[in-house]
Amino acid sequence: MRLLVVGGGGREHALCGALRRENPDADLYCAPGNPGTAELAVNLPIAAEDLDRMADAADMHGIDLTVVGPELPLARGLADRLRAEGRAVFGPGAAAAQLEASKAFAKEVMAVAGVPTATSRTFHELRPALNYIAAHDEPLVVKASGLAAGKGAIVCATRRDAADAARGMLGGGILGEAGRTVVVEACLQGEEISVLAITDGHEIELLPVAQDHKRLLEGDTGPNTGGMGAYSPVSIATPALLERIRREVLLPTLAEMQRRRTPFSGVLYAGLMIDPAGAPWVVEFNCRLGDPEAQVVLPLVADGLTDCLASVALGGPPRPLVRRSESAVTTVLAAEGYPDAPRKGAAITIPADLPEGVSVFHAGTTRDQAGVLRASGGRVLAVTGVAPGFDEARRRSRVTAEAIGFEGKVWRRDIGWREAARLEASVGR
Ligand code: AMP
Repeated sequence: MRLLVVGGGGREHALCGALRRENPDADLYCAPGNPGTAELAVNLPIAAEDLDRMADAADMHGIDLTVVGPELPLARGLADRLRAEGRAVFGPGAAAAQLEASKAFAKEVMAVAGVPTATSRTFHELRPALNYIAAHDEPLVVKASGLAAGKGAIVCATRRDAADAARGMLGGGILGEAGRTVVVEACLQGEEISVLAITDGHEIELLPVAQDHKRLLEGDTGPNTGGMGAYSPVSIATPALLERIRREVLLPTLAEMQRRRTPFSGVLYAGLMIDPAGAPWVVEFNCRLGDPEAQVVLPLVADGLTDCLASVALGGPPRPLVRRSESAVTTVLAAEGYPDAPRKGAAITIPADLPEGVSVFHAGTTRDQAGVLRASGGRVLAVTGVAPGFDEARRRSRVTAEAIGFEGKVWRRDIGWREAARLEASVGR
């Protein structure tokens, strides 16, 4: 079997890890990959968004299954392109990827499908957006409709902040094309979870549920980032809640996409707020695995991932995954200055022998000519600890995160704090 993973971040390193585990003898390629994927796959120096060269590479290497990691190539039609050339590819076509690439579109789909989500309005011009903001209760969330690499949503405590955010996007063009259309919505309260559903557009196979930590600093403070860490499973995601999410969120969304004749196949990622009464509300949809969620959920899949992805890529139903009944915690190590202006170039040292149950996934790393590993992006590494219990998984992730050295390393020691507090409370009871 010849497999190609498209992308070059921590998610793709985790994908390569999972595929390699299940297919020790396969020819595995990653484009463009990174120094981490180079240890598991052959890296192809092709940008993920370069559709022409990616299609040529799939041809040249006789790829049987392509798994697309990031959203941008999906939104630009990489899956359509490869499918048109007769290849099996896991990931939605451009039309279905609009669920992520246009928040305005996602809101419209949810409204028609009756999916619970924050009340919102979409704007293309500043004046009506400001009027809407002035007439609505604080806090408000102002979102660039287009793809903004996790930086497009601004949670605003006051109407004044919301007006400034809208001015920045619609007036000042601070997020470029992505912010030319803006969604203003009510702020939801509760606890967030990430539910990742592998789907052919009809049936669903859920990955273990994760909770991401979007804020830069401990205690969930500081600016929003692409994600500073995650853990899985999450105890509030009970079977009853997941059933409700399936019934009220995932299946109606898929049905509406079918009705529009743009069925969604791939990973439908629902970012959900669970309100204090236990009801799920959609914060956002993504059209692919999350990052760092992939680094925390894929190590919990014991078997069946390749079969599941291949079946969906060929138009069949998602096959059941075999899960590990363990816990995983991922800690992200970011570069100094992240998220605004990450400093590149710091030399990285990773302990040669990683402890049991620990994986280090590369994201923003590069090797210089002398072979020294250096930071090359905002999020540099993700350290995943897997163990029979949450506390031990957390300890494993934290100990190795501490042991990895590079100048200016930014990381949170409190990943999983909500789960830890719940466990403590249940022991005290
Ligand atoms: P998004 O880009 O839509 O995923 O938003 C990024 C983050 O902003 C989310 O993970 C939430 O933490 C926060 N957020 C977005 N929309 C809302 C909302 N309506 N209410 C509360 N928080 C939100």
